[in-house]
Amino acid sequence: MKLSHLSMLVASAFLFSCKPAGADEDAVNTTAKVDKSAIVLTNAVIYQHQAADTMVIKDGRIAFIGNAETAQKQYPNLSNWQDLEGAFIGPGFIDNHNHVFEADAEIGGDCDLSDARNIRGYEQELIQCKRELVPESDEWLMGYGHELATLLSLTDESPLEMLDRLFPDNPVVIMEQTSHSMWVNSKALQLAGLNDKSADPQGGRILRETDGSLSGILLDNAGDRLFEIAWNQQPDLQSAHKRGLLNGLRQLAENGITTVGDGRLYWKRGWLDTWQQLERQKKLTARVSIRPWIYPADPAAPQLEFFRKVYQPDPNRLLVINQVKLYSDGLLQNGTARLLQPYRQTINPDLPTGLDYIAPDQMKWWLVEIDKIGYGAHIHAIGDGGTRNALDAVAFARQEGSAQLYGLTHLELVQVEDFGRFKQLSVDADMQIGNEGTLHADHHWADPWLGHERAAHLMPVWAFLAAGANLTLSSDWNVNELNPLISIANALELKGQAFPDVDSAIAAYTINAAKALGLSEQTGSLTVGKAADLVVIDQDISRAKPAKIRQAKFLLTMLNGQVVYQSPDY
Ligand SMILES: [Zn+2]
Repeated sequence: MKLSHLSMLVASAFLFSCKPAGADEDAVNTTAKVDKSAIVLTNAVIYQHQAADTMVIKDGRIAFIGNAETAQKQYPNLSNWQDLEGAFIGPGFIDNHNHVFEADAEIGGDCDLSDARNIRGYEQELIQCKRELVPESDEWLMGYGHELATLLSLTDESPLEMLDRLFPDNPVVIMEQTSHSMWVNSKALQLAGLNDKSADPQGGRILRETDGSLSGILLDNAGDRLFEIAWNQQPDLQSAHKRGLLNGLRQLAENGITTVGDGRLYWKRGWLDTWQQLERQKKLTARVSIRPWIYPADPAAPQLEFFRKVYQPDPNRLLVINQVKLYSDGLLQNGTARLLQPYRQTINPDLPTGLDYIAPDQMKWWLVEIDKIGYGAHIHAIGDGGTRNALDAVAFARQEGSAQLYGLTHLELVQVEDFGRFKQLSVDADMQIGNEGTLHADHHWADPWLGHERAAHLMPVWAFLAAGANLTLSSDWNVNELNPLISIANALELKGQAFPDVDSAIAAYTINAAKALGLSEQTGSLTVGKAADLVVIDQDISRAKPAKIRQAKFLLTMLNGQVVYQSPDY
């Protein structure tokens, strides 16, 4: 089902008709009382309803789950019966941390270095980008996908000199694959007003050579600020935003995702306008909890004013805005994740335990202020210090009477005494396990920075399960695979930390995430009365082996009872 057909879908409610079943069509059509507002999915395996094979969807909600015979009796006037031929119906997946707005947008990522493996590879890609992508001498070239470690291995010239050599005229910014640092040239630095004497902004770091000159690498918030300037100067911004978001939404639907928690809304780039436009035009094919970002180096008053203006807590609308996104710390690779004990090795020797994106006292202040408007928060926390500071901030807000939704995401390194605080403070724990390293508990990449002892304890999924935290799994797309089935299969095979059963893994991608977003009355399970947000899969993933789960195919995705994706061969 293509997005361009959605308006038609909305008008006609249900289109899919590959296998009409049950009642004789002619006979039914002569009945005056035929109810066309409903659909019946029958001959299905229905998750967590073992005895049932039939679901009735009426006015966008699940009206009935049971057997076909009872459905016939209770709803004698329904004409639209669909035989699913034994396929599996599950609740639509909920991805609690997903950058759908930017993940598949061509803006910001035209020049892709992610296939190159070394510095000469980057150079080849950049030369090709220069040939293909830059028409005017003063236009920005934006790219994506290198690795910081590879840049830092340059010896004969600095990263800045290399980029200046290739691009003497155009401002250039290349986002590192984690999005937590930017590689820039002199033109870009000039346009951002950065020079040898510039101070580090709050939450960021301007890397320098040993002689104090700029290296062309901006860590965390130093890079965020420059990237925003480049982004906002792109031509035809509004239509690029719309194309990017529609691409992202299409892929969500193809992967059975009916709700997302937004990874972050850079609201100073006009992103919210695009979201709101698609909601008005009824082109949203997923629920989304938009999370406006707190800009750490900018004054608070205008940010609070914006949050107040856009607040939208009604859980029955597709676009909900009642959590902000903020960063407690940076990234281990950058030496900017906040640690309780010093790094073993770091590129910022004068920051031995990393940095705060937002200082601990400031974080407390922010949580209390946004609570007054009605906002909770989704907080990026990677180091054990960053995690503790975020928990302390939530504890402070709770003491002040806050009952908002709080969640911490990433949680790569956490101290033993902090696991129990998640349940105690009602803080959701969100993690990403859709990658090979986590699956095989291979964290040697972090040995140089943390030492083996701490690196071996990274990604403590099991400790969160044991501590009874509300654990959600997410993709952080496009950091990990978008397909939730990859993470669910991984959850069952995590080396040394496997989830106890498939239901707990599915819950982490459905009902737990619905709770984390405050949407558990609307979605997250197949329950009579809830919205018909569901997915049809060719395998019963609640019984299949992990290898089969990974290969399972999405046949159909529904949001509020509307088909938002239908597999071409279904
Ligand atoms: Zn993210």
